[in-house]
Amino acid sequence: MKNVQLYDKSFKLYMPYEEIQKAIDAVAEKINEDLKDEHTPIFVGVLTGSFMFFGDLMKRINLECETCFIRLASYEGTSSTGVVKQVLGLTQSVKGRNIVVVEDIVDTGTTIKELYQILNENGARSIRTATLMFKPGSYKYNIKIDYPAVSIPNDFIVGFGLDYDQIGRNLKDIYVLDPEETEKRKAINVK
Ligand code: 5GP
Ligand code: MG
Repeated sequence: MKNVQLYDKSFKLYMPYEEIQKAIDAVAEKINEDLKDEHTPIFVGVLTGSFMFFGDLMKRINLECETCFIRLASYEGTSSTGVVKQVLGLTQSVKGRNIVVVEDIVDTGTTIKELYQILNENGARSIRTATLMFKPGSYKYNIKIDYPAVSIPNDFIVGFGLDYDQIGRNLKDIYVLDPEETEKRKAINVK
């Protein structure tokens, strides 16, 4: 079993690269079908976490489309702060456009809710959401998550774009926090 250590925390393999790719295949197929008659949608990648998913998803999209990014942040360490900051605004106009938001993970939904508000205020015609990971157990809003590639329990995961305090984004597979191993290592280090 593959393990990684990021700062003070241990993580174990949760989903290998090949499985992630299959989940992205399925989501891309649905998006291509659903949007085939829509006028030039804009795929809005939510930075930083979605960069790997965004790249892999876009390679499979066969629609005429535009791409851009927005940056929001609500996380510190391993839990959501509940306050979303808009760090980098929309880099292009969404007025009258069909939008597909591309997220790394939807957890409480605070980020998505904020994003929908920003897109609606800016005159988006329609908004859909594709997310690599979805935590239905902690999701608090009723905005529909149209394209969740993988649904997971309320665990903290890293890799494939997702970070722990900014590190671990470059991991090719997805890992989940391993509390037992983390405690074991802590005990060893204390001695
Ligand atoms: P929300 O606003 O839905 O509560 O949280 C969304 C953001 O929190 C995600 O875009 C992601 O950046 C971060 N996040 C939520 N859950 C996790 C997780 O399990 N691991 C990591 N690395 N980030 C997460
Ligand atoms: Mg995010």
